[in-house]
Amino acid sequence: MKLIYPGSFDPITLGHIDIIKRGSVFADELIVSVLYNPAKKSLFSVEERIDLIKESVRIKNVTVDFFDGLLADYVKKVNASAILRGVRNSSDFENEKLYAVNNYLLCGVDTVFLPAGQATGHISSSIVKEIAAIRFKKDMNTNIISDLVPQNVSLAIKNKFL
Ligand code: ADP
Repeated sequence: MKLIYPGSFDPITLGHIDIIKRGSVFADELIVSVLYNPAKKSLFSVEERIDLIKESVRIKNVTVDFFDGLLADYVKKVNASAILRGVRNSSDFENEKLYAVNNYLLCGVDTVFLPAGQATGHISSSIVKEIAAIRFKKDMNTNIISDLVPQNVSLAIKNKFL
């Protein structure tokens, strides 16, 4: 079973890591794949995002890759068995359901959902960036995002705001 976990991961959070850990249990191989979308403004480049994921996730059957264009084309190219997505709430679910149905129609590969973990379901990359942008301006020594992202990511975000 080859699972693809696609996303922006701008940057990876403890919420993503929880899904990766739990998803990797079901998979022979889990590929965390960073979406390169030049139309979307990002804090970290794709290369930086890949490095941050590699540094923060060290699980034997987990690898990191990137893709651009349609997820369905990428899924076919790498011959994946299923797409993995994390679901935090009902609005995530409604969105994900639409993508899941369309991806199935496009490539015949299904999406499996894991519910967000109890301790990490409130985390999103956007919220992390919002908090960091405001607080790091005032106080570079704050630990404000240390419960939301791994330490290497916290440092990398600080460096962006220095
Ligand atoms: P976001 O920018 O919303 O954090 P990504 O595109 O990076 O989203 O997310 C990739 C996948 O990870 C999506 O399936 C998303 O729902 C899921 N995800 C994001 N944050 C969490 C979290 N805290 N817990 C569980 N799943 C999450």
